[in-house]
Amino acid sequence: MVIPGNILYALSALTKKGYEAYLVGGCVRDMIMGKTPSDFDITTNALPEEIINCFPDKKCVLSGMKHGTVAPIIKGEAIEITTYRIDGEYKDSRHPEEVYFTKKIEEDLSRRDFTVNAMAMDESFNITDPFSGKADIENGIIRCVGDAEKRFTEDALRIMRALRFSSVLGFSIEEETKKGISKLFPLLSNIARERIFTELKKLLAGTDAPCILAEFKDVFLFIMPHLENVAEEKYIDNVKRIKGCDTAISFAILFDGLITDDARAVLNSLKTDRLLKDTVIRLMEDKNADFSDIVKMRYFLKTRNFEDVSRLISFKEALGLMTENEAKASLELLEKTSSSCTKIKELAVSGSDLLSLGISGRKTGEILDALLNLVIEEKCENGKDALINAAKSLGDKC
Ligand code: ATP
Ligand code: MG
Repeated sequence: MVIPGNILYALSALTKKGYEAYLVGGCVRDMIMGKTPSDFDITTNALPEEIINCFPDKKCVLSGMKHGTVAPIIKGEAIEITTYRIDGEYKDSRHPEEVYFTKKIEEDLSRRDFTVNAMAMDESFNITDPFSGKADIENGIIRCVGDAEKRFTEDALRIMRALRFSSVLGFSIEEETKKGISKLFPLLSNIARERIFTELKKLLAGTDAPCILAEFKDVFLFIMPHLENVAEEKYIDNVKRIKGCDTAISFAILFDGLITDDARAVLNSLKTDRLLKDTVIRLMEDKNADFSDIVKMRYFLKTRNFEDVSRLISFKEALGLMTENEAKASLELLEKTSSSCTKIKELAVSGSDLLSLGISGRKTGEILDALLNLVIEEKCENGKDALINAAKSLGDKC
């Protein structure tokens, strides 16, 4: 287990001044599991003003100060340090009314969502683990800290987080936690769609996504009601195929059997970004595209780029529309076209070259497109003289 230098620096800046300081949450979980954490969170009994005073020669980001977070910039990185906190009463399954600082690490750990996320580790790797998170990691279990129903009622996003961690870590969900999810998932209507989507995206990338999507179908139908329009068996078949795919492919697989309007409605309701939405819809529309020989592949590339086609091949393979060998052959074909001209802008002539032949206006586009088709079909080489000659005869015919 390695703690990065700037994190160690932050921990010891606090402990040198007599405060307690721990790594906490996901980074502790990941280190215990032998994974490299994506980020490191530090918690301390120092109050925000006191944290600032521990870093006299560092600039501190103070935007999270109201919630107890100060982030000194150490070696170019903002390191988040948060005062031990307990949450006040929750009124809307979303935000606590107030947060309170506390002097006890155990109290801070008790507000955290799951036992595996409720451990703290000091700079000498000693672990504080009041809810047996380490044992739950060893046994592969996601379990709420405290009463599951109460915790999900406080913050319904935890429902999505439980499913996400189960999918990503490959852990099973403990019975009470599971019951809480099945009973309380309608509370997700109180949660911002963007936050649900963030969890869903991570969930879809998890190794256990197929099991979670199958077992908790009710939850997924609740957040994506249009999936009701996919037949039961088809849904189960689809979700089995979502394995380590990128986000767009995963959604396109999940939506297979839906009309694109429904898919678009789901993605709109989840407030996904435009790029993802367009990519998913394009995959769905291109599902039956024919790119079985080099000319067809080039024609297809007139309106698509290399990544689109390579993603489409993975999508078709995941759906079982292509065998592994067929997908490999299509990728090789795609590679072969990388030196081909498939776009008007790649032609050796442009509109201004056509002007000297008396071709202008709307005609220009038509002739350039016809020239591109000739090049694609290898009826004309992509050289200026050859294309000008071809343009002349095309111009004469028009
Ligand atoms: P990741 O690897 O995705 O970053 P993480 O466990 O670090 O996973 P974060 O969202 O970064 O998740 O949150 C950091 C920690 O804050 C969690 O480990 C958990 O202890 C606590 N936490 C986050 N969200 C909640 C929540 N909704 N309810 C309770 N505790 C939470
Ligand atoms: Mg994290």
